[in-house]
Amino acid sequence: MQSIFEQKIKIGISACQFGSKVRYNGKGRDMLQNLGRDRSEFIWTPVCPELTAGMGVPRACIKLSKGNGIDFWNGEAIVKNKEGKDVSSWIKKGSISCMETLERAEIDVFIFMEGSPSCGVYRTSLKNQRLGNPPGTFGALLLQKDIFLIPSVDLQSPIRWWDWKRRMVVFIWLKKQEINNEIDLKEMWKRVSYICHELSEVETSKIKHEIAKIYVSKNNQPESYSKVKKQILDLLRRPAEMEMIKKWLWKNYIHLKEREGVIAEDILEPDILRNMTHVLEEILSIEKKVREKNISFRSSPINYKPKR
Ligand code: SF4
Repeated sequence: MQSIFEQKIKIGISACQFGSKVRYNGKGRDMLQNLGRDRSEFIWTPVCPELTAGMGVPRACIKLSKGNGIDFWNGEAIVKNKEGKDVSSWIKKGSISCMETLERAEIDVFIFMEGSPSCGVYRTSLKNQRLGNPPGTFGALLLQKDIFLIPSVDLQSPIRWWDWKRRMVVFIWLKKQEINNEIDLKEMWKRVSYICHELSEVETSKIKHEIAKIYVSKNNQPESYSKVKKQILDLLRRPAEMEMIKKWLWKNYIHLKEREGVIAEDILEPDILRNMTHVLEEILSIEKKVREKNISFRSSPINYKPKR
């Protein structure tokens, strides 16, 4: 199993976060400018379900009524605009058309504008801490698919982006792996087990339990392998806690120092107070050293090196 991923990753994005001024009030933000050189490492497909619906810019803002985006697709909720007009059929057409575009573009990842009644996934309101009626109408469609979802607001934080990117790369790598026998399973688990531990000890024990069941029962049915793969993919969607990132950075460093002779003077113990910008500098410095030596860094086990 290759630990280098060379295929350029295809990412869909809410168009208003790609710099297109398509929001109801004619605004938009280029969130990708936060990524620096990373921006050119991906192929982007921006979509706007409300614009594709034919609602134009500027337009009256919309609101889910009688339920969330899932209820909407089940025919139990509707979408109204500020003037009280039912625009449900427009939103349906716009959302389906955008999803078809994303499918043709073969995206594996979508960066969504959180807080929108269309693209929002975990909240559909931007007001204070209110969640609204999540997911939004397009967010509900995104959740049904096997897509890695990233809130655009996290692109503003370099450490958050590092965390999303490393999990995204492992997610897509794993999605494309064929796990057909115990050897494949063992090799895959060797690569991803540490990042799983870092994300959640509880979920990792459940995965380990499932793997142990396969070894003990000699159950080589494809469904058993798929079940483990799905558990890991679900876990990889979950953001890491900042404290865990710090703790595992130290654990990994000690491992690399003892086993591989990697020395980096600037890695601090987890209890030493410092901000996350500093922690990210430590991570990047060790990641660079490890990649130069062509050995594995367990917190980001798959090296993303897209071909130009
Ligand atoms: S949040 Fe989605 S629907 Fe709203 S403007 Fe942005 S891309 Fe369009």
